[in-house]
Amino acid sequence: MSMIRLEHLVKRFGAFTALKTMDLTIADGEFVALLGPSGCGKSTTMNMIAGMETPSEGRILFGDRDMAGVPMGRRGVGFVFQNYAIFTHMTVRQNLSYGLRATRRPSDEVVRRTNAMAELLQLTPMLDRPAAGLSVNILQRVAIGRSAIMEPAIFLLDEPLSNVDAAFRAVMRTELKGLQRSFKQTMVYVTHDQLEAMTMADRIAVMDHGVLQQVGTPLQIYNDPANLFVARFIGSPGMNLLHGRPTEVAGSMAIDLGALGYSLPLAPEQAAAARKANGDVVFGFRPEQAARVSEGQGMAMPISFVERIGARTILHLGDGAASAKTVFENDAGFEMGRALHFAPHPSAVRLFDAASGAALRGQ
Ligand code: ATP
Repeated sequence: MSMIRLEHLVKRFGAFTALKTMDLTIADGEFVALLGPSGCGKSTTMNMIAGMETPSEGRILFGDRDMAGVPMGRRGVGFVFQNYAIFTHMTVRQNLSYGLRATRRPSDEVVRRTNAMAELLQLTPMLDRPAAGLSVNILQRVAIGRSAIMEPAIFLLDEPLSNVDAAFRAVMRTELKGLQRSFKQTMVYVTHDQLEAMTMADRIAVMDHGVLQQVGTPLQIYNDPANLFVARFIGSPGMNLLHGRPTEVAGSMAIDLGALGYSLPLAPEQAAAARKANGDVVFGFRPEQAARVSEGQGMAMPISFVERIGARTILHLGDGAASAKTVFENDAGFEMGRALHFAPHPSAVRLFDAASGAALRGQ
């Protein structure tokens, strides 16, 4: 019943198309994050699932039931927004129990479920405090609890952590995932923060300009981006992308990186992908999937900046013509201005069609 199917969904606002087309099936009990930059159509999609917006085209089904014409209140969804909507004149307990009381649940059940939710969200010590004096962090936790207590089969969260501070966000990521594991709701979570999507979601739907770019597990999206947009958007720093041309020398495929004066041999799967290329390719590898090599054995780029973040060192390499970043888990005396000789791990290389941006895959 709580499977969600979006079929050829389109949303237009006048002449502007906010969602060009969306086909997505979210399984019962699955946690799916809608991830993308501001304005890509995430909230529009969510609002249509909730019943706050009407699709211009396409269908939304919960299980086998078409939601066309079903108002928000009858969809059985819980919804939490970026801006907590709680009653400031009530206590935390009154806010948490509001839905249960409104639906006239027996009072012993109201007490039991309110206490359990407070315990789960670490709100027990402040149950009888008025909401008015509480911090934004706590208020958002109350808002989540107030919706979750109704145990909706479908739980929709639209950027619920974007107003809370960074340390609290980390705590809440764990708690939200725990909440979903306890109640096994189908969860749709809108965010522009890839860390939230990567740490919580079973699958991520990456969107850009009203178009679904890729759907997959966090690791699939990270390791095998479907196109250049996803390759750049996912990962911090994003994937290194260098222009090159497939060449075949004595039966072995390599990528000629042109101005870098280097020809990079390919592993079998990437070689098969390169053979399918129709012209130039973009050669991609993750910043942490490169190793230092001896002079003459890999690429050489000047170190333009050394960024030290605790144990990690991010090297900014190259100049305007070709640039890359590498991440090392140590600081081996990197110096600005010196050349770094490095090469990506062959199996970590990904190729993209330079013209269309689509990933080229071996199989
Ligand atoms: P954000 O995180 O900034 O909200 P988003 O990915 O959730 O981004 P949407 O809110 O879905 O994006 O908006 C998608 C596009 O549709 C934006 O360009 C937005 O300006 C436009 N849009 C959304 N609602 C309306 C509306 N009611 N009327 C006209 N345009 C709208």
